[in-house]
Amino acid sequence: MPPDERSIIHVDMDAFYASVEVLDQPGLRGLPVIVGGLGPRGVVSTCSYEARTFGVRSAMPIVQARRLCPDGVYVWPRMARYEELSDQVFDVFHQVTPLVEGLSLDEAFLDVTASLRLLGSIETIGRGIKEAIRERTGLVASVGMGPNKLLAKLASEMSKPDGFHRITAQGAADELAPLPVGRLWTVGKVTEQALHRMGIRTIGELAACDTARLAGALGRQVSGLQALARGEDDRCVEPAQAEQSIGAEHTFDVDVAELALAESWLLRHCERIAARARQRGLEGRTVTVKLREPPFVTHTRQAQLRAPSASASDIYAVARGLLKSWWQAQRRPRLRLLGASLSGFATERQQDLFDAVSDARVTDRVQDKINLRFGTGSLVRAGVLRTKRQN
Ligand SMILES: [Mg+2]
Repeated sequence: MPPDERSIIHVDMDAFYASVEVLDQPGLRGLPVIVGGLGPRGVVSTCSYEARTFGVRSAMPIVQARRLCPDGVYVWPRMARYEELSDQVFDVFHQVTPLVEGLSLDEAFLDVTASLRLLGSIETIGRGIKEAIRERTGLVASVGMGPNKLLAKLASEMSKPDGFHRITAQGAADELAPLPVGRLWTVGKVTEQALHRMGIRTIGELAACDTARLAGALGRQVSGLQALARGEDDRCVEPAQAEQSIGAEHTFDVDVAELALAESWLLRHCERIAARARQRGLEGRTVTVKLREPPFVTHTRQAQLRAPSASASDIYAVARGLLKSWWQAQRRPRLRLLGASLSGFATERQQDLFDAVSDARVTDRVQDKINLRFGTGSLVRAGVLRTKRQN
């Protein structure tokens, strides 16, 4: 099938983290809710639409947000809760098609081309997804539909919040023409400025521009750029992308200069990563530790597990070794950020009857069950507790 005759849906939850906070505390409804790191170096992760009217935006320093919106409700992110709801949202996606490409916890592309015969038109499927998400989670998703990723994503962006919009191949040129060129997915700041210097501000102007003139000014292959401006995009939905690595990291408000405290944080990260891998039925082989010295020098250290695993103690044993050897090689070790991730996934192998179940695995399973019943973080290894008091 030609790439531009596919049926692609882009789903993006509206103000996801902030909406979850409102869902769990209905008293916050209608208020400017800002979720982010609340320390002096924190940034805004997500904010409600009410907060956006004050000019607050994602990735803005929290200090600036407080100036713009001093009466806002500021809350720390609760990642475990967002992940829990994200899993429910992705369950809805996987009921429609196996071709789901997750872009983040709250955003994905779905290729539903093969689902049309069974489930109905792309609008029927899109509407069904939106309703199923609302029913299962109480949250609002924006849904964009189109013959390719570019148009599906623009359709959801254009109609959000509570969006529902389809851009057809025939209608694409007209709908795209008035949009700023910066909305095209390959156009970054540098290209945007170069286009502005040529007097090209809208996607319509880019599509209509003489190709030779454009190539002269941008000094690179521009036919791809003009194809995008016409609404053509042959990228496939790639289901594996979301599972390339599972990570966790934390920026400290006060730099950490004590190895034992760094290890507590690392253990906490490893428990989260392992739980998440187990939820997805994945076992990984590669452990990466990310270490940032103040102000912004970042190092990564990587090692392989002997066998793929989703066990927190396996992952931590390797991650701790990496942290320790980095630490001991420094004259005056200090950390501003510490992260860990697991990658190199194989699907979790079938439990072999003769495979002795290690104590570590039993601990992980028990921990999953208790956390499922009483909320994530109810049961953690004792070593993690220090992270709850400091930083
Ligand atoms: Mg979103």
